[in-house]
Amino acid sequence: MTPFAQDILTWYDAYGRKNLPWQQDKNAYRVWLSEIMLQQTQVVTVIPYYQRFLEHFPTVTALADAQLDDVLHLWTGLGYYARARNLHKTAQMVVNDHGGEFPTDIDALNSLPGIGRSTAAAILSSVYCQPHAILDGNVKRTLARVYAVSGWPGKKDVENTLWQYAQANTPTHAVDRYNQAMMDMGAMVCTRTKPKCALCPVSNHCNAFRQGDPQNYPGKKPAKTKPVKQTWFAIIHYQDQIWLERRPPSGIWGGLHCFPQSDSDNLDALLHAHGISRASIITQRTLIAFRHTFSHYHLDITPVLIELNQQPNVVMEANQGLWYNLTHPEAIGLAAPVKQLLESLPHELQHSYSDTPSI
Ligand code: SF4
Repeated sequence: MTPFAQDILTWYDAYGRKNLPWQQDKNAYRVWLSEIMLQQTQVVTVIPYYQRFLEHFPTVTALADAQLDDVLHLWTGLGYYARARNLHKTAQMVVNDHGGEFPTDIDALNSLPGIGRSTAAAILSSVYCQPHAILDGNVKRTLARVYAVSGWPGKKDVENTLWQYAQANTPTHAVDRYNQAMMDMGAMVCTRTKPKCALCPVSNHCNAFRQGDPQNYPGKKPAKTKPVKQTWFAIIHYQDQIWLERRPPSGIWGGLHCFPQSDSDNLDALLHAHGISRASIITQRTLIAFRHTFSHYHLDITPVLIELNQQPNVVMEANQGLWYNLTHPEAIGLAAPVKQLLESLPHELQHSYSDTPSI
């Protein structure tokens, strides 16, 4: 074992996290679920989602049998919804192609949707003590600092260098504890801002610490200005029912329910396509616009509240849309800004529509 790994383990035994929910009654399903949830999300945020998921889907078979809408509903608010869709897909593959057991071979596990090399390694090392190195964001940061690896870890050559350091230090024994220790180090000590070098068990190995400015590592992602796109949400409602449509399975908010969208402020074509005549509109009111930011662009959203005087003749293709009842909400997956708007709607609907209707 390298002196670095030895020091990490000694620290972990004294200070590491050993009571996380997925560390209890450990099995491949639970560890996999936690690993997917923890991608790009902090432990404290993940815990209630993880617990709710396990209550609803205690086994991989229960998850495979679930409706995608139920999975997306429980995921609502956690973001990066491709993770939830892949979770469902992988559960079905485990049940249908692997007899309900997660593969214990790293390549087979790595080939399942949403499971990358580091996630596969984390599952197999944690559950079966297989000696595989991990390289999640926390580990990348710690190793980049310890070995003073310059450059942005999103670049292949930088990532490859970090994988080499990760492998060189991963022990063959106690790998479950070591990998957990590396994750804990990044989350608790070698944090993104203000790393706690004075408390660090590996400061004597750390080149960035010696250089005096650990925050120089890892290198930053090259700055790129995000483009801005615009959309209009048509919040079509009749009394306390709101019309929502399911988005296509891939792309932004894939499989989630959303308001009908238009790429211009003229909603005539959209309303016409939904079988809504002008005569059936009591009021149409533009609400305050807001910005939703994705990893690759900003989306400026203008919601338009459209009140109808009758249950409209909306085109309801099978499975593509539903009337969402604000008083008795359906358990469906909602895009984050849609959820936010639905929560504010009771207040908006109480507003007297004293504005001159724009129709
Ligand atoms: Fe991170 Fe500081 Fe420890 Fe280096 S000494 S690994 S920068 S916490």
